[in-house]
Amino acid sequence: MKLVTFTDTAGTRIGLAVDSGIVDLKKADPDLPRDMIGLMNQWQAVRGAVERAASRKADLAQSAVKLEAPVQRPGKVLAIGLNYADHIAESGQPTPTEQVWFTKAVTSIHAPFEPVQLPKVSPLLDYEAELVAVIGKRCKHVPKEKAHEVVFGYCAGNDVTVRDWQFKTPQWVLGKSFDTHAPIGPWIVTPDEIGDPHALGIRAFVNGEKRQDSNTKHLVFNVFDQIAHISKAMTLEPGDVIFTGTPGGVGAALKPPTFLKAGDVTRIEIDKIGAIEATVVAEP
Ligand code: ZN
Repeated sequence: MKLVTFTDTAGTRIGLAVDSGIVDLKKADPDLPRDMIGLMNQWQAVRGAVERAASRKADLAQSAVKLEAPVQRPGKVLAIGLNYADHIAESGQPTPTEQVWFTKAVTSIHAPFEPVQLPKVSPLLDYEAELVAVIGKRCKHVPKEKAHEVVFGYCAGNDVTVRDWQFKTPQWVLGKSFDTHAPIGPWIVTPDEIGDPHALGIRAFVNGEKRQDSNTKHLVFNVFDQIAHISKAMTLEPGDVIFTGTPGGVGAALKPPTFLKAGDVTRIEIDKIGAIEATVVAEP
């Protein structure tokens, strides 16, 4: 299933993306929770009703709604750095023996097709195509072999980065946390439709030109290694979002380095998930 958070004139709510459009879960079953984290919290009880709704005819055309970030306000947005060999090589850094974690501010979470802002304070705006895992169960100390059980689903993400702000201090958080810089979506695809999350083609395009082209099989620490490791430190909760790393081909590593400018269009595609796309606009 492909679960969406969407907005139309009747407000923001959750639904399913199906071939014919969007199934409105409120119409399918008025008793279902109205937001994605609420749905995850009650998933065992409501899963059957949601699966039945997936066979309904669409209530709305996809063009009639605005797709929002599937989880609009996660409790945490975690991200791993230096996690594809080719990206480590292009960054000139040694291969980490420890997982390198940072956070993105939850306020950077952004809808999948809305414009991304070129900050007032920097022209060094960059893209990073990433598979994003969404946690579905409250958990701590998850063994790697059981980590798949706590994943609610996957989406595409762009770990938009302000490179000079990322590296002017040892901590990357500010350069990773500008408003609009964590677009995710267009929906959460449930694991049954993904199969092996470590066998997905992942690509980034700028103005139609392919800049990143890899596969999640090249992750240094795979998604389940990541969940096992971070859950040793912190409780993960439904709706928490994990950016799982970017392959080679980011703008900063091009020769010459090539950063995003106003008017550019970024597109992040992942097999079995789909694509998110954003125009770069000057920060108002
Ligand atoms: Zn990243």
